[in-house]
Amino acid sequence: ARSDGDEEQVSGAEVIAQALKTQDVEYMFGIVGIPVTEIAVASQKMGIRYVGMRNEQAACYAASAIGYLTGRPGVCLVVSGPGLIHALGGMANANMNCWPLIVIGGSSERSQETMGAFQEFPQAVRSSIYGRPGACYVDIPADFVNLQVNVNSVRYTECCMPPPVSMAETSAICMAATVIRNAKKPLLIIGKGAAYAHAEEGIRKLVERCKLPFLPTPMGKGVIPDNHPNCVAAARSRALQFADVIVLFGARLNWILHFGLPPRYQPDVKFIQVDICAEELGNNVKPAVTLLGDINAVTKQLLEQFDKTPWQYPPESSWWKTLREKMKSNEATSKELASQKSLPMNYYTVFYHVQEQLPRDCFVVSEGANTMDIGRTVLQNYLPRHRLDAGTFGTMGVGLGFAIAAATLAKARNTGQRVICVEGDSAFGFSGMEVETICRYNLPIILLVVNNNGIYQGFDVDSWKEMLKFGDATAVAPPVCLLPNSHYEQVMTAFGGKGYFVQTPEELQKSLRESLADTTAPSLINIMIEPQATRKAQDFHWLTRSKI
Ligand code: ADP
Ligand code: MG
Repeated sequence: ARSDGDEEQVSGAEVIAQALKTQDVEYMFGIVGIPVTEIAVASQKMGIRYVGMRNEQAACYAASAIGYLTGRPGVCLVVSGPGLIHALGGMANANMNCWPLIVIGGSSERSQETMGAFQEFPQAVRSSIYGRPGACYVDIPADFVNLQVNVNSVRYTECCMPPPVSMAETSAICMAATVIRNAKKPLLIIGKGAAYAHAEEGIRKLVERCKLPFLPTPMGKGVIPDNHPNCVAAARSRALQFADVIVLFGARLNWILHFGLPPRYQPDVKFIQVDICAEELGNNVKPAVTLLGDINAVTKQLLEQFDKTPWQYPPESSWWKTLREKMKSNEATSKELASQKSLPMNYYTVFYHVQEQLPRDCFVVSEGANTMDIGRTVLQNYLPRHRLDAGTFGTMGVGLGFAIAAATLAKARNTGQRVICVEGDSAFGFSGMEVETICRYNLPIILLVVNNNGIYQGFDVDSWKEMLKFGDATAVAPPVCLLPNSHYEQVMTAFGGKGYFVQTPEELQKSLRESLADTTAPSLINIMIEPQATRKAQDFHWLTRSKI
């Protein structure tokens, strides 16, 4: 501390909070402890919303989702050592998703000669949002947090500028337009990069002016509403397999898009890649054209090109006909499955009833294996940046953190929006105690646990009991099994929220109606579905070693 006692003093924690505020950081998620508690307190005093969570991993997922939803990084505040290690999951997930994030960890004390300018913040903010967005980590020495310095000795670096917007080469734009014009079976793929870039208006214009079919990736859903007539999501495989020209707007040719390779694609399909990250261009395929730049800017460039020489893809083409037919038959199949009356319910029945009551403006958060994959095909998104799921890394355990981020945002902005968080029972377990966080802040979240008693599949109660006759569960239970008929809804009632245990479509409809009508408390609907494992005890062959 300085000796000039007349001057107003400020603590390191307050300096950090002010520096964050100066950088337009609005949200902080974390778990406090020595030495970071003061940082949370100071940040909250500064007007930054602080959400105290129950595990750093979920806090970090929440902070990264804020970055994706707002374009300004959220902060995840953790203690050193185990706190930071728990947060690593969130940092990795943010990097894989290309979402901005700042993690602040308090480390041990260290003698510091000068307080100096606290330059890590502007740098961290810049590197999280410039170029391809991602995670950064700022380490704060413990002694910094409580150190007192003169207010006047601290200089805050101005808020960093929004990321500079870059455009694609003009010649590449011309070439791309030519390739699109000559396409026989064109397809636009809209990824979460387009959502993050706020490119919804431009991409929609392009789709409508040129009458092109489009396919959203999981989190690209809603950039253009799912019910748009040009959306061919219901014919996804067909569209990918036979397209001859594919324009990628902020979507990587990774596992989600089957690497862009045969047999899922034509061997000679022409890819046009739009991405802000030069290193991404040419990954897995040799693209016909690469458009390096901001998606929003590049889309405008393409629109200008088509303004000069208007062009439309013929709506009567055989390609459209193929796509429409396939969509119709796929939609009929899932309707058929949804209408099955047998109990326990199947996934389609569940999602059909959820979709019927889904508010148009809600956030949909989802994770789990079948729960997420099947849910995605039925649950519609109408707004950009309103779907959050396991993402590029396929991470389980993100759901509650993401839901908390979306709900915190909706509450802060007073939008009145609900968050519908659709979880598999296994996925829910990763961060289940965040239900306390949800209740503490009374967040507008409806949790749906689609419960099949296991990971991928499980046992019904009777089979489980039958199995236990053959030995202790650790010796005989299939590793995919979770305790059958677990009453996850009681996790919610434990903290004062509403809990429902439902087994029939009628109970599901009723509990959904009640949850949506009730704006005073969060709820959890535990939905029992077919565990898909009706094998009897004597069939437990997986334990007998195969003979060599
Ligand atoms: P999805 O999972 O939806 O397919 P990906 O995460 O694979 O999406 O791809 C998103 C891509 O978007 C990343 O390669 C990233 O570099 C890119 N991106 C992010 N922001 C922008 C932007 N403003 N302009 C252009 N590309 C962007
Ligand atoms: Mg399950």
